[in-house]
Amino acid sequence: MKVTLKNLTKAFPSRNKKQPEPVLAVRDFTLEIADGQLVALLGPSGCGKSTTLNLLSGLLKPTGGEIYFGEDNVTALPPENRGVGLVFQNYALYPHLTVRQNITFPLENRRGKEKLSRREMDEMAAEVARLVQIEELMDRKPAELSGGQQQRVAIARALVKAPRVLLLDEPLSNLDARLRLQTREEIRRIQRSTGITTVFVTHDQEEAMSISDRIVVMKEGVLQQQGKPQEVYDNPCNLFVAKFLGTPPINVFSGEISGGRLLIGGEAVMPFDAADRAVDVAVRPEGLTLGGEGVLTCALERVEVMGRDISVVATHAASANPLVRAIVDAEHIAGIGGTSVRFGLKPGKVFVFDRETGERI
Ligand code: ATP
Repeated sequence: MKVTLKNLTKAFPSRNKKQPEPVLAVRDFTLEIADGQLVALLGPSGCGKSTTLNLLSGLLKPTGGEIYFGEDNVTALPPENRGVGLVFQNYALYPHLTVRQNITFPLENRRGKEKLSRREMDEMAAEVARLVQIEELMDRKPAELSGGQQQRVAIARALVKAPRVLLLDEPLSNLDARLRLQTREEIRRIQRSTGITTVFVTHDQEEAMSISDRIVVMKEGVLQQQGKPQEVYDNPCNLFVAKFLGTPPINVFSGEISGGRLLIGGEAVMPFDAADRAVDVAVRPEGLTLGGEGVLTCALERVEVMGRDISVVATHAASANPLVRAIVDAEHIAGIGGTSVRFGLKPGKVFVFDRETGERI
């Protein structure tokens, strides 16, 4: 099911008397999600991710704009008529019901032509339980399950209604690190095998990058950039997006463009064909190189061995981050020593942003 958000806006009335203007949680948000895709809404706390998801679910009504599922305008439809499956961070399972009863719960109140027999409901529950691999847990109560198992039950309950769209709000944030990794792969597998268009909300860029077909980066209610994870990583449209994606984080230096050259802290580092101005220069850790002609001299702090790669940690007077980090091949370790290190720059990993606007040049 294709999902389209058109100029979606959500304003909440202000509760602060000193600032009476409404809170614009989502502003003029336009996005098309292709059928069968897994899309992550990504951004820092308060950027409007959950509000956008709740507009899709129907739990919130937009102040302006429209939502389409396929060709259906669902903007005015209540949640129960939209055909959405919802999974929240806190699972929200009924503690007194078994796993099977939790899963069949959304099917119980179907009436008239849609009414299902107990056997039909149990068969449907068994089918989704197989999909999320919890068949052997059907007679347990939620308290007898691990966090990851509870989350699978919540996903099964969302899937049993055969939703047109699956919506997941921070589905992994209550799980420990190992289980998060495992469950995110699981969500990917389930999404692939059902082919249901899925939107999930997370503030964890690594999680979003690793399992999504597309990521949508938001800031202060405004869509900043959307695309395939690698494309957005390789081509950030502004400094916010460049900084939000990547671990370790991107290195940022204050610099300038002067006479067709890019300067960092007064040192010319590469030719750059743009009008003279103050800029921020962002370089991915894998964009700093060793072994060739170095253009950027940094004070060496330490070298961290990570196996195949090493992390060279340094400082530079023009760096906006306290530390400059380079990820290089471990074969370079012998060449590093003394008090300074000279890095080369990989052109495709260096992004230049206007200091005033933050936009990419
Ligand atoms: P988080 O990751 O912390 O959950 P989020 O990106 O999901 O954040 P939202 O919950 O969508 O952010 O909130 C976006 C903005 O709207 C925030 O500034 C928030 O304070 C505000 N907001 C959300 N719900 C309401 C509400 N019911 N009334 C007033 N303001 C609200």
